[in-house]
Amino acid sequence: MPAPSTPPLDGDRTVSVAIVGAGFTGLSTALSLAEQGVDVVVLEAHEPGWGASGRNGGQVNPGLKHDPDQVERDLGAAAVTFSGDAPNIVFGLIDRHRIACEALQSGTLRAAFHRRTLAGLARTAAEWARRCPDVEIVDRETMAGLTGTDRYLGGMIDRRGGQLNPLGFARGLAAAAIDAGAAVHGDTPVSRLSKDGGQWRLETPTGTLRAEKIVLATNGYTDDLWPGLRRSLVPVFSAIAASEPVPDDVMPSRSSLYEMGDITVYYRKNRDGRILMGGRSVQREIDRPEQLQYLIDYAIRLWPTLRGVTWPWAWSGQLAVTADHYPHVHAPDETVLVCLGYNGRGVALSTAMGPELARRIVGGPSEELPLPVTEFRGIPLHGLWKSAVQARVVYGRIRDALGL
Ligand SMILES: Cc1cc2nc3c(=O)[nH]c(=O)nc-3n(C[C@H](O)[C@H](O)[C@H](O)COP(=O)(O)OP(=O)(O)OC[C@H]3O[C@@H](n4cnc5c(N)ncnc54)[C@H](O)[C@@H]3O)c2cc1C
Repeated sequence: MPAPSTPPLDGDRTVSVAIVGAGFTGLSTALSLAEQGVDVVVLEAHEPGWGASGRNGGQVNPGLKHDPDQVERDLGAAAVTFSGDAPNIVFGLIDRHRIACEALQSGTLRAAFHRRTLAGLARTAAEWARRCPDVEIVDRETMAGLTGTDRYLGGMIDRRGGQLNPLGFARGLAAAAIDAGAAVHGDTPVSRLSKDGGQWRLETPTGTLRAEKIVLATNGYTDDLWPGLRRSLVPVFSAIAASEPVPDDVMPSRSSLYEMGDITVYYRKNRDGRILMGGRSVQREIDRPEQLQYLIDYAIRLWPTLRGVTWPWAWSGQLAVTADHYPHVHAPDETVLVCLGYNGRGVALSTAMGPELARRIVGGPSEELPLPVTEFRGIPLHGLWKSAVQARVVYGRIRDALGL
């Protein structure tokens, strides 16, 4: 999917709603607002999809990090229904706007290679099964048939999930938003935000935007635009290596899969037959496959026939982790909405939040949002996050290797 034209903001303009960040959150919100006839502009420091939205694993996963019973206790039943249905919103949008992004509703597999995590998956599956017919536990033999490896003791399939090409989807969302009447400006970092009279003033190197309302959709790339917001989350790098096309018996199901280990490894086989292998990485940008040799070696352990296969590409990006592992919605002023912290599950959730945020912007009550509006709080010892994340990755690798 070619990138739509998104020239920088040029001069001064006044609009109803300004959105900072052109990832899935910002673009999906802009699309929904523009479809309702709202005058909306998205300002993006780089290009649509430049952040996590264009670089992720393309796994369209239902649900939140915690199991449905706990989510219901913590956030309410609406959050369970919303997060479970989020992939349907994504695939529905793709259909409606005919976005060419290799979308396939081929299911999400959660895979266990320890007895401990297999028992946890059985509980998760039982909780979902009480709420929807799309989730089932998968035994060892079936798992081997779906994946082409005998590594797993079992798993859980959720047929609501699937996969897509993330950059294609981000560009398609941007194009759909522009078609619906939104303006999207790339290469337009917002350097300062202030209130001037009743309006917000967003300063950029090439112009100033005034707006009645703003949405901050900056997730793992959140800077100091809104004081203190950056400290409410921890940006964590995740990385992906992509292979050349591989034989048919490697991951024949084409489901998106993530492992229930201490360090999450996730992968899928895309439409071209390439394996996209993802996992936690060093806490900086990477761009060479040799930097992800441990992921490539792990792929060979799963499918020994991959020995000798080349891995031409590798990349990484930042996602946002919150202290309670839930996405956060904040309204630090009645004309401001913030939505971020998808904890690595944002493909479906961030996209599905778009129409919800748009409804709130045009006057819907906060109580109708599927996630509660909370005040943001700084994470204690935030400055130490980089070494803490690195230590967690090493600890997790050791536990996984020892089968603990
Ligand atoms: C490598 C990787 C793999 C992942 N895999 C998966 C997966 O398989 N499945 C899944 O569900 N989730 C996955 N995620 C998480 C998912 O990609 C994110 O949760 C989701 O894309 C968040 O979207 P967003 O729009 O909120 O943020 P982003 O897409 O990160 O967009 C934020 C944007 O804000 C812009 N910005 C920031 N500050 C400013 C400013 N001052 N002015 C202008 N623009 C600004 C940035 O340039 C950026 O483009 C992954 C993430 C990564 C990094």
